[in-house]
Amino acid sequence: MEVSQLVCPNCGRDQVQKVSAIVAGSVVKGKAKGEVNARTISMDIDGQTELGRSLSAPTGELSRGCMEAMGILFVVGGFLMLIWLIGNVTQPDSWFRDFSGDICGVFWILVVFGVVLLVCGVLMLRASEKAPNQSEVNTRYQNALSKWNQLFYCHICDGVFIPGQGLLVPREKMRDFLYDEWPDKIAKH
Ligand SMILES: [Zn+2]
Repeated sequence: MEVSQLVCPNCGRDQVQKVSAIVAGSVVKGKAKGEVNARTISMDIDGQTELGRSLSAPTGELSRGCMEAMGILFVVGGFLMLIWLIGNVTQPDSWFRDFSGDICGVFWILVVFGVVLLVCGVLMLRASEKAPNQSEVNTRYQNALSKWNQLFYCHICDGVFIPGQGLLVPREKMRDFLYDEWPDKIAKH
């Protein structure tokens, strides 16, 4: 079998396993039963090992349209919030004034929150200009997923590789590798 001769390109040993199989085998599902204070309790277990979680299949990226929508939502939300706060605090019976008429701390916390929302929205709108559009997102995701399906994991080196490429990628750089940002971009750091 071809799989039995498969070795890690870094250490040359065969302690390797298909990534998709590790992830599939890492999901723990079942029921646990035990006794607490003489009462029998049972609970559902639905978890995943840390290794399985970190090696799981890539998720898609945010598209330009999605980021724009979120950015606009944040900007409008932050703007409306500030307008409402200013409108409210100028009223003599405002919630934000204590009995002596002083503005209370909650008002300033909400002002900061509104400003943060506004700034986040603007930053997101700016970042969206560089974000891929929906069809690019789909293509990139399909590529990343098909690469992920070919990945093997080396238990000794804690890295992943595609057989025949002679390149071991550290586990934490897997996502970058799947999205084609390795080794060019990361190797420079
Ligand atoms: Zn290795």
